[in-house]
Amino acid sequence: MHQYLRATFWILVYMALVLAPLFALLLGPVPAGGGFWVDLSLALGFAGTAMMAIMFLLTARFQRATAPFGIDLIYYFHRLASIGAFAFILAHPLILVARDPALFGAMHPAVMPWHLWAGFISFGALAALMITSLWRKQLRIHYDEWRRAHVLLAVLALVPGVAHIAGVAHYSATPWKTWLWLLIMLSCLATVGYVRLLKPMQMLRRPWRVVEVIEERGSSWTLVVRPERHAGFRFLPGQFAWLTLWSSPFAMKEHPFSISSSAEAVREVRFTIKELGDFTRRIGQVKPGTPVWLDGPYGTFSIDISRAPGYVFVAGGVGIAPVMSMLRTLADRGDQRPLLLFYAYHTWERLTFREELEQLKEQLNLEIVYVLSEPPSDWQGETGYLSEEIFARHLPADKAARECFICGPTPMIAVAERGLARQGMPPTQIHSELFDLV
Ligand SMILES: Cc1cc2nc3c(=O)[nH]c(=O)nc-3n(C[C@H](O)[C@H](O)[C@H](O)COP(=O)(O)OP(=O)(O)OC[C@H]3O[C@@H](n4cnc5c(N)ncnc54)[C@H](O)[C@@H]3O)c2cc1C
Repeated sequence: MHQYLRATFWILVYMALVLAPLFALLLGPVPAGGGFWVDLSLALGFAGTAMMAIMFLLTARFQRATAPFGIDLIYYFHRLASIGAFAFILAHPLILVARDPALFGAMHPAVMPWHLWAGFISFGALAALMITSLWRKQLRIHYDEWRRAHVLLAVLALVPGVAHIAGVAHYSATPWKTWLWLLIMLSCLATVGYVRLLKPMQMLRRPWRVVEVIEERGSSWTLVVRPERHAGFRFLPGQFAWLTLWSSPFAMKEHPFSISSSAEAVREVRFTIKELGDFTRRIGQVKPGTPVWLDGPYGTFSIDISRAPGYVFVAGGVGIAPVMSMLRTLADRGDQRPLLLFYAYHTWERLTFREELEQLKEQLNLEIVYVLSEPPSDWQGETGYLSEEIFARHLPADKAARECFICGPTPMIAVAERGLARQGMPPTQIHSELFDLV
């Protein structure tokens, strides 16, 4: 209940931040309206710019504001709201020109006033932002380059956008209204300063160090890190952190990884990382003693947030990492609530944490259903891919009372969410962790 109240509070804050600048423009002396279409076009422009400005706050990872939702949901919302903001801002000039085609004439570069130039630059940057974000993978833009460009394009969309509003000076001609927009813009730039400068400085003061690198089955490695000259952080089992390795926290080269260790192990944090791309492929070469910087913990994917008389876990591949954190924590706490784990992998040989999972069965009230797509010839268990039929065969009678945590490849998550809901697990009790934020 408390969680829902906090979420509602932050949704109201968001709505107020989007709408407040719009209504503030109607206070004090207001110019004669240009008719419904002109006013609608201006309102869309103002609302789109305010939404764009709030994106800076949304993605700054303020823990208090993100905690009730989970950061993946915040990023998902950021994506959807950006499409909305872009549509509003696109509609702004389209409505004006459709209503009065003579405005085209004013758009000739030779005669265009500076505030129109500012509007065009802002719109161009915003369009580039949308295209590179929605189709980053298809355009083969490397994640790190995309991220750096994303911040630059966002600033380039916002600053000329606010200059456009100030230059047109319609509805915002009163000095305090111009100042309001300047204040909004400065808050956004301050947020960038906080994320890019202040936060990395705080991280530099709280270094961590790799103490061990453990090879796991399935081309995965566990990094064991310990805080250096500070107390580290407490986390909830299933949460994740952004990890910076081989570069300074200012370099914007951080990667998110779930914590795979027990939340009861206070002096160390473990990450289990699968070799996948440029960064993860080098994890096996990390030398003990290498400094690491962590930003976290984040996330709501945790048994300590969604409490229940029993749990169902569904993991695919390295999606086992946050589940291991939850299982290890439950084992350290001597918890005997009933647990069921569906664990999908290609082969038995490469199944990460195979031995430890078998040991955990001794300590916990845990049943494991392995689902292998390439089983050995003598395999007696489930085969193929996870499916509703497999859930139907193994889900316990008390499934509707349990909370479920799913983590793995995106298609597996979709199948699991659908299959579990169809088999009678309440959708509000099904939680998924996406390893793909963008
Ligand atoms: C909440 C969360 C928890 C995660 N937990 C784990 C885990 O426990 N173990 C694990 O092996 N993987 C985990 N991942 C995935 C991991 O972050 C990516 O696989 C890794 O960053 C890929 O980096 P790369 O350079 O090796 O691969 P690349 O080939 O460069 O990238 C592959 C894909 O990974 C994503 N990616 C790349 N770099 C980043 C970055 N800096 N930040 C965010 N996404 C990026 C992009 O979608 C990219 O297309 C998690 C991801 C998220 C979002």
